[in-house]
Amino acid sequence: MEQDNLTLVLRAMHFAADRHRDQRRKDRAASPYINHPIAVAEVLCTVGGVHDPITIAAGILHDTIEDTETTAEEIRQHFGQDIGAVVEEVTDDKSRPPPERKQLQIDEAHLLSDRARLVKLADKICNVRDIIERPPDGWSAERRRGYVAWALAVVDRIRGTNRPMEDYFDSLCRRADAHLGPGLSA
Ligand code: ZN
Repeated sequence: MEQDNLTLVLRAMHFAADRHRDQRRKDRAASPYINHPIAVAEVLCTVGGVHDPITIAAGILHDTIEDTETTAEEIRQHFGQDIGAVVEEVTDDKSRPPPERKQLQIDEAHLLSDRARLVKLADKICNVRDIIERPPDGWSAERRRGYVAWALAVVDRIRGTNRPMEDYFDSLCRRADAHLGPGLSA
């Protein structure tokens, strides 16, 4: 990665760490939220073989609009049009109720750009891995199964994007089957 690209990725990391600074994941240990965007960037790079700095930076920033006060305009100002567009693409419309947002992710996944698809895949991988390894406190096996089934429905709409990440996602679904009971993967 060229120096400027490395700088871009580190700036994204710094920005995301600052914006998510008071947030925690829902697991029992209440892990720092920033662990999640870092994991998404790491999966993009190490599993997906993605080295495009715009995709990696968008992966790091992918939850800043949805889960913090950050606006799309700010992302554009700090990181440019391309990264802003990808982050916006993977941001749910919070004015809609959660069940509708989940259905929209399935219905509209195929409309995503290539970069947004990659971020979406890595995000689903990290979330499903967390559901298996460090689930939100108080979630039943049923609820966890439901989450994995939904993530699978989203991923199914964007298959053909990145084979290694899709294969890894499928291996996680098999692990979820083993952990949480069957019904997820064929
Ligand atoms: Zn995420």
